[in-house]
Amino acid sequence: MKNIVLFGPPGAGKGTQATLLKEKYNLVHISTGDVFRFNIKNQTELGLLAKKYMDEGDLVPDEVTINMLKAEVEKNADANGFIFDGFPRTESQAIALDAFLTEKGVQINGMVALEVPEDLLVERLLERGKTSGRTDDTDEGKIRNRFNEYNTKTAVLKEYYQAQGNYYGVNGVGSIEDITNRLADVFDKL
Ligand code: ADP
Repeated sequence: MKNIVLFGPPGAGKGTQATLLKEKYNLVHISTGDVFRFNIKNQTELGLLAKKYMDEGDLVPDEVTINMLKAEVEKNADANGFIFDGFPRTESQAIALDAFLTEKGVQINGMVALEVPEDLLVERLLERGKTSGRTDDTDEGKIRNRFNEYNTKTAVLKEYYQAQGNYYGVNGVGSIEDITNRLADVFDKL
């Protein structure tokens, strides 16, 4: 079983790459952003709650996000492993994930991080906003706030996984295919 955290700032290409890699490695892809958007679209209680935060580019509270993530894992009890995309995004989410997987007798095999300079990311997000219908991608102020959330709450997770000897940085600039190949080189070793 392989459990991989695909990591990187907003717009780094996690979703695109996870979609390709889940096929190659027969893993279940859980994107917390996608699960929230699905709930918003279907106007569930969770969706109504998450929307308030997401629209501003703020993180959804940990307890809500952790419970949702656990439920998604439980739905796929016979999975060969998972690609976690957009989770964990805070240290307490990382601690909760470790505890949850330990209970199941498994662990995170590696955090694989897409490294992309911030200027390029803002450009990519504004471009995506033109077609994705994502309201959090159209306003530069909200995008900046997501980077602020990333830099203040999420970026520290690099050290968290480094301390476990589980951090693998990958250059996230280049063609989609080149980046998939770079990621696959790391996935193969995990
Ligand atoms: P991106 O990586 O481009 O920021 P996502 O689709 O991963 O996009 O996330 C969109 C939004 O969903 C985030 O800005 C945040 O509000 C919410 N979200 C997603 N994952 C988490 C998480 N693990 N913890 C808290 N909020 C989250």
